[in-house]
Amino acid sequence: MKIKTIELFQVELPYSGGVYLLSGGREYRAFEASIVRIETDTGIEGWGESTPFGSTYIASHAKGARAGIEEIAPYLLGRDPRQVDRINDAMDEALVGHHHAKTALDIACWDAFGKSVNMPVCELLGGTTGFRMPTISSIYAGTPEDMRSRVARHRQMGYRGHSVKIGALDSEGGPALDAERIAACLADRKPGEYFIVDANGGMLPETALRMLRMLPDGMDFVLEAPCASWRETASLRKRCPVPIIMDELAELDADISRIVAEDIADGIGLKVSKAGGLTRGRRHRDICRAAGLTISVQDTVGSAIAFAGIVHLGATVPERFLRCILDCRDMVTLVTADFDAPVRDGGVLAPRAPGLGITVRRDVLGDPVARWTA
Ligand SMILES: [Mg+2]
Repeated sequence: MKIKTIELFQVELPYSGGVYLLSGGREYRAFEASIVRIETDTGIEGWGESTPFGSTYIASHAKGARAGIEEIAPYLLGRDPRQVDRINDAMDEALVGHHHAKTALDIACWDAFGKSVNMPVCELLGGTTGFRMPTISSIYAGTPEDMRSRVARHRQMGYRGHSVKIGALDSEGGPALDAERIAACLADRKPGEYFIVDANGGMLPETALRMLRMLPDGMDFVLEAPCASWRETASLRKRCPVPIIMDELAELDADISRIVAEDIADGIGLKVSKAGGLTRGRRHRDICRAAGLTISVQDTVGSAIAFAGIVHLGATVPERFLRCILDCRDMVTLVTADFDAPVRDGGVLAPRAPGLGITVRRDVLGDPVARWTA
């Protein structure tokens, strides 16, 4: 089986909550998706998506993803999409880095692989645990009471995890405001709920330590991406009683190894497009499992196609290690594909259909912006 055609689509995904506010004054209103379709000489098609969280989150951006795909696509024509590790070797030979660009192509290969053997992708990634994966909300930074009410709204919608964004500048209220935000968001906590307090690298060790000292004792949460650099995170780690989760800094295989070697965190946010796709995401999953790190399987953002990748990888993480998955479908208003994975009884199960199990809505994608044929 060989890749015969690759098509690239560019789609704008409006943010469902209006304006998303992140530490450091960052704002997001819409996200640009790069969606890839591959077709094989046997007539099987595979789909993949890569949607960066704007251009100020990690070192990825939508134009870069498209440019990267353009660089790589010609090297994949004629290759067997089922050889996912060899596909990734070929992508690395064509272009160094730019994992967000490789993601869409990698996922499309897994989708085609699954369809070719009539199995869901999660089975090829190691097999589903059959455990309903709890979903996590994404509560952008706001006033404490507004954040508390948004947590409550998501709780009603069935979310069992909440990612609460903090990282106020001194001029906005600093560590005191962040402490109030945390206290408000956890005020109505229900048994079994999981809280990530996520600064997206917006704090310094000094502000993080001040914030933690202002909180009442016994609050149950983990602190994600408190600082922007490894040095700052390592310094905070030595003096911080709260578990630390790495996200933006945990990108490459080498980063995951370094987290283990330096014992700098207790878990990672495994974002599929940050890792570079399902092939690398699978590797991160296994390193974390071997080292005893917890995992939240997420993506930077994305539509139903990206969510399908999250679900299939998440389905293979044992319950003890899996904290939650991100239902990014709720973060955007455009539906790019039908995907039968409802949030039910506290979580999501991977569907049993072959490949990713999605039916892409071709009409919302428009015409491809680029096409390569063998
Ligand atoms: Mg995060």
